[in-house]
Amino acid sequence: MSRILLASRNAKKLAELRRILGPALPGLEVVGLADVDPYPEAPESGATFADNALIKAREGLLHTGLPSVADDSGLSVEALNGMPGVLSARWAGRHGDDAANLRLVLDQLADVPDERLGAAFECAVAYVDVDRELLSAGRMPGRLVREPRGDNGFGYDPIFVPDGHARTSAELSVAEKDAISHRGQALRAMAELLVR
Ligand code: IMP
Repeated sequence: MSRILLASRNAKKLAELRRILGPALPGLEVVGLADVDPYPEAPESGATFADNALIKAREGLLHTGLPSVADDSGLSVEALNGMPGVLSARWAGRHGDDAANLRLVLDQLADVPDERLGAAFECAVAYVDVDRELLSAGRMPGRLVREPRGDNGFGYDPIFVPDGHARTSAELSVAEKDAISHRGQALRAMAELLVR
């Protein structure tokens, strides 16, 4: 069975990639960073989601020799000129403090009128092997609400209502979110590029 590395430690992302790539690429085993010898991971220094995804996928190939997939994602808020963007995971300063990140965004939007609360989750996925580099992207447009709602999901999900929905993405089931999410779209697009 051939192996492909998802350059991530996130078990949810690994499960999602297996669900999406599995049917598209039968006989492929998706492994995560926890399944390979540890290597030094470079900081996410890119200016765009695509830059960061490529950096992580190239690093995976370099250190493991396996074809590698990586993603990078975040929230872009119109009234914040597209920020937090690539800084979404560390907007309040410390990497991965979801509650503080969400609170800071809400504080920054306190004086912004409701009609300017448009936002979108964005995701880039990169695939790198010795012969080629592929990129795909996904976007889930919506709007922010001022009161967090829902326990599913992570990050900014409790304050994000996807277009066409009344619930926040933290109130959607996993399957409902996968079907419309930025990451779901980008991963499905990558699966299509890979089977071509
Ligand atoms: P990364 O792509 O794992 O580096 O995630 C970047 C950050 O963007 C996360 O820490 C979250 O704050 C935010 N983010 C990305 N995707 C989502 C999502 O689907 N829901 C909520 N927050 C997200």
